[in-house]
Amino acid sequence: MAGSEATCDFCGYKAPSERALQEHVAKVHAGRPFPPKCEVCGEVFESPADLKAHHEGVHRAGRS
Ligand SMILES: [Zn+2]
Ligand SMILES: [Zn+2]
Repeated sequence: MAGSEATCDFCGYKAPSERALQEHVAKVHAGRPFPPKCEVCGEVFESPADLKAHHEGVHRAGRS
């Protein structure tokens, strides 16, 4: 990821921000099984390994 711009892994759509990309994915690509999506923050990853690393780095021990 470079700067604040974010690209949709599904269709290549360029969003002005990560948040805008998440909203785009939720609206346009809702319910798609792939690529893996973080259930906590909604971020989408290219592989399950990336999602796992994201969880360990961002949401580690975040279970309440
Ligand atoms: Zn898209
Ligand atoms: Zn997350």
